[in-house]
Amino acid sequence: MQVSYFYDPDIGTFYYGPNHPMKPHRITLTNNLILHYGLYNMLESYKPRKATGEDMVDFHSEEYINFLQSVTPQNKDQYAKQMQMFNVGEDCPVFSGQFRFCQLYAGGSIGGAVKLNYGLSDVVINWAGGLHHAKKSEASGFCYVNDIVLAILELLKYNARVLYIDIDIHHGDGVEEAFMMTDKVMTVSFHKYGGGFFPGTGDLGSVGRGQGKHHSINVPLKDGMTDTAYEMLFKPVMRRVVDVYQPEVIVFQSGADSLAGDKLGAFNLLLTLLLRHALQGHAECQQYMMSFGLPMLVLGGGGYNIASVARCWAYETGRILGVELEDELPENDHQSLFQPGAKLHLPLPENLENLNTRQYLENLQRKIFVNIARIGSATGQEFRERPPDAMAPEDMETEGPSDEADDSSPPEGDSAWPGGDSGQRAQLWDGRGRFEDAPLETGPGSSGRARIDLDYSRGELI
Ligand SMILES: [Zn+2]
Repeated sequence: MQVSYFYDPDIGTFYYGPNHPMKPHRITLTNNLILHYGLYNMLESYKPRKATGEDMVDFHSEEYINFLQSVTPQNKDQYAKQMQMFNVGEDCPVFSGQFRFCQLYAGGSIGGAVKLNYGLSDVVINWAGGLHHAKKSEASGFCYVNDIVLAILELLKYNARVLYIDIDIHHGDGVEEAFMMTDKVMTVSFHKYGGGFFPGTGDLGSVGRGQGKHHSINVPLKDGMTDTAYEMLFKPVMRRVVDVYQPEVIVFQSGADSLAGDKLGAFNLLLTLLLRHALQGHAECQQYMMSFGLPMLVLGGGGYNIASVARCWAYETGRILGVELEDELPENDHQSLFQPGAKLHLPLPENLENLNTRQYLENLQRKIFVNIARIGSATGQEFRERPPDAMAPEDMETEGPSDEADDSSPPEGDSAWPGGDSGQRAQLWDGRGRFEDAPLETGPGSSGRARIDLDYSRGELI
């Protein structure tokens, strides 16, 4: 099995600011464990090609991307209005090199999609990606550019049906919203829901709209979810989704904030308690999806206890490669962060009640099965003209083992954002209420429900 791994040694050098829970350094830690566990020689490693502004406006608005490219900590006062409009400033601060950070993590996810499209990899890993909250014209939940949406759009050039799975503790709202009106993408998000938990969306009744109706599945969970209970729900639901929807490729967001022990503390997103995933339980979800033998793009996501995140994603890299890592952590460059014990697996908290009763979970599963049964067959769709690839597979640089951060500072204005020509780019679904203007289908044979055609300005996208 060919497993590709995207990593840029600069990714860990970006800094959201003091006291901000999102620490890109966690990706460096992860890479370091992967390196010292000796997994590198089993991986085909790539340094991602940076995504360009042009790549990003396949989903995002030109104004928003222009803003992200222009704003800096030094000039942000001039952008007060845009910062408010684009929700940048608090949870999503302006920081140095921010746009380049977005280019790197998005470049890995898009590059991974290209690899899968060309059949060059069976599984692609980009732990820096998975920033699932970003919207078309809005930053959200520490996410600026939605690399997942961009990767899925790339996959749709070659695949008729993409299945997206999200096991981050937060609802995968940005991805769901982007594809809520299409049946070409099915999104399934398992997350904590209720009590004002961020982002507040993702209830059982949100199943998609128009053509995409029944193609969003939400599995709202309560505190204290155990691995056993999670698995009881995850496997049957995902098996049925795969059987009925028959995806051609899978995108897996492996947010590590659903691990026991992660917490955001008293930050704006106010998170107190989490699901109780142990590493094995978290990885098992991925393993189960791999068992279907479909090409898979594996991405990171949330995760705020950086030592736990590194353990989790290194362990999962091993599992993807079919290697069960030793519990004793190898000597690495960040030993003090993994104390005490320097073990891979950590004990689970004992004193946490599982508020998800068997009855609650059975009821969830029953309702989700009803939704899945309504999907109908999505097969038999034909491609029309295929748009060009975002990047050529040969553009991706093969990398040897690397744990060195390149300390050259990001060049000013370093991007390939060309400006202009947005008229030629895809203006995708608005995501916010465009469906409200949609006409009802009232002709013979119509079900009477609203039917919305996606507004791909490239029209022939799929
Ligand atoms: Zn999260």
